[in-house]
Amino acid sequence: MEELRKEIENLKNNLSKIESGEYKECFSNVFAVLEIMNQKIEELTINQETIEENIRFMDDDLTNIQDELFEELSIDELNDMEDEYTEINCSHCSKPIFIEQSTLSNNDEIPCPYCHKNIKEK
Ligand SMILES: [Zn+2]
Repeated sequence: MEELRKEIENLKNNLSKIESGEYKECFSNVFAVLEIMNQKIEELTINQETIEENIRFMDDDLTNIQDELFEELSIDELNDMEDEYTEINCSHCSKPIFIEQSTLSNNDEIPCPYCHKNIKEK
């Protein structure tokens, strides 16, 4: 970025030695354009750096969240959780429903979340 700015300055200095009025006007237009472009490029570069930094932060955050999530549940605990839940098909609409084993055995009436009928009723 610094290099580009220097090059533009150099070019400006060299061309300022040209005496012809016609060329001078033409070149000053070219420089106006170059400077706008240079500014835009600088803006874009800064924006991109900010975005990259944000992504890095988000990535770090995600890593922390992942660590926390996987720390709290061991494989055994996950298996236990699976044991507690069972899959049963509604006797009316036969959609699969995940339900706690204890709920299933302790209740005669369990409303189906899909058809709202009792999933245990034959
Ligand atoms: Zn149902």
